[in-house]
Amino acid sequence: MTEKENMNEQNETPPEQGAPSNFIREIVTADLAAGKNNGAVVTRFPPEPNGYLHIGHAKSICLNFGLAAEFKGRCHLRFDDTNPAKEEVEYIDSIKEDVHWLGFDWGEHMYYASDYFEKLYEYAVALIKKGKAYVCSLTAAEIREYRGTLTEPGRESPYRNRSVEENLDLFARMRAGEFEEGKHVLRAKIDMASGNLNMRDPVMYRILKAEHHRTGDTWCIYPMYDYAHCVSDSVEGITHSICTLEFEDHRPLYDWFLDELGVACHPQQIEFARLNLTHTVMSKRKFLKLVGQGHVSGWDDPRMPTLSGIRRRGYTPSSVRNFCERIGVAKRNSVVDMALLEHCIREEMNKAAPRAMAVLRPLRVVLTNYPEGESEELDAVNNPEDPSMGARKVPFSRELYIEEEDFMENPPKQFFRLAPGREVRLRYAYFITCVDVVKDGNGRIIELHCTYDPATRGGDAPDNRKVKATLHWVSAQHASEAEVRLYDHLFTTPNPGDERECPEITGCLNPASLVTLDSCRIEPSLARAERGARFQFERQGYFFVDPIDSAEGRPVFNRIVSLKDSYAKAMKAKG
Ligand code: ATP
Ligand code: MG
Repeated sequence: MTEKENMNEQNETPPEQGAPSNFIREIVTADLAAGKNNGAVVTRFPPEPNGYLHIGHAKSICLNFGLAAEFKGRCHLRFDDTNPAKEEVEYIDSIKEDVHWLGFDWGEHMYYASDYFEKLYEYAVALIKKGKAYVCSLTAAEIREYRGTLTEPGRESPYRNRSVEENLDLFARMRAGEFEEGKHVLRAKIDMASGNLNMRDPVMYRILKAEHHRTGDTWCIYPMYDYAHCVSDSVEGITHSICTLEFEDHRPLYDWFLDELGVACHPQQIEFARLNLTHTVMSKRKFLKLVGQGHVSGWDDPRMPTLSGIRRRGYTPSSVRNFCERIGVAKRNSVVDMALLEHCIREEMNKAAPRAMAVLRPLRVVLTNYPEGESEELDAVNNPEDPSMGARKVPFSRELYIEEEDFMENPPKQFFRLAPGREVRLRYAYFITCVDVVKDGNGRIIELHCTYDPATRGGDAPDNRKVKATLHWVSAQHASEAEVRLYDHLFTTPNPGDERECPEITGCLNPASLVTLDSCRIEPSLARAERGARFQFERQGYFFVDPIDSAEGRPVFNRIVSLKDSYAKAMKAKG
């Protein structure tokens, strides 16, 4: 990397790109133009409360709540809590917090699929009465075997032609708890020869003798997702039921249930591609493993792609929304480069974050010609992108810290920063020249002796002489100590979710994904930083004051991103 006189060149942003068109927006627009649904747009975000939300969910949240806002409709938050064994109240609370953090609100429209258990039961009875559902007493293994394969049709269950009366009786007794788990299930009676496996008499209800977090032990039969989901949508008056591509093959079943039930509201299911991001995984099951085995500090570990992790890292809600807008909504699965997410926060922070100086790995510098015991205050701009953010005073004195890596005793050709005999600029301050290198008994550099040129105050030489580098620094006596946490990708491979690339995710963890530096030196303005504040540390990146681990007078800074924008660079190269 070549050094630039102007450090801010590192934050250049690429040309603005318009948000890609969105086929779902077009469908909704066309529906409205055709007068469908009496002009209503009602969407929902339906998480299963079995883990914390991740950035993939943000895509779905932005899409569903975004459409509702755009078309003056509404978006429901619905917990798909049909699986009692895996769900916890902790997850429900975190999901609500994350949706709010992203900037969306469901108003009074928060629901639970479990609200509809009675309705779902009644509808199931109606299907039995219509001869469209039956109690099957095959074992789970037998049901699987009878289902057939993609190339072979299935076989009908020997219980398929039970009478309506017998079915009603057995189903009522299933509900009453008369049978053990696995003894019977309720199945839809559709078509065992269908080319679509989902249509081969899918299971609607199974017996589960489990406590439910909301309904307690009221129920011992629980509806399956495919059945519960479409009915929940219909009951709530959803107009557009937006889901990810893996449900495309389930759409005929979604439609079958609603058609057979003859409900007034039959939402339109629309599928889009889920978000995949490089260098991370996007599955609650895998996160559970990372958290459970202690590979990360928790669901909100700043390296996690969970919304709580991303928030703790320091991302803003607007940067995440902007990211979701830019990736667009398509029908084809793809993998988005993590660099785009990083680009979004960088772009925002470049405009919004006050600049400050912090030395992460301090190297002491003594200015031998600066008067002992004296100090002065220099003017530093808070944000060169935004003059309205003003300026501040930075103390300067005889003893300073600079970044260890900004000095080399025997510099190679491309190294333009400080070296013996060489002059560089200290940002907002003076030109300094290195005159001596002080080492300890082991030959380790412990201190540099430099001289400063008083005529260069403010950072410019009256004779117009040039230097090739500008360094950040802090005054030793005025600086405070801080802890800084530098983050890198959690996984070493670009696609850890791909089992060929990473058969066991814990085997692909990046051992250097967290580097903790506990004796950084920060300028006085940073010592007073409030929890949750964001800064650009000159030349080091954008940082966030950790809201949990920071202590009074000793902040902990999480690096959100470095300044190097690989996305902008790639876009530039493309032209
Ligand atoms: P996971 O596999 O992580 O458990 P999930 O799909 O089972 O995810 P749900 O709680 O069922 O998680 O998801 C709630 C909603 O979010 C669904 O509508 C789902 O389609 C959507 N969603 C989940 N993951 C993604 C993703 N990666 N990209 C876009 N939408 C997603
Ligand atoms: Mg799910």
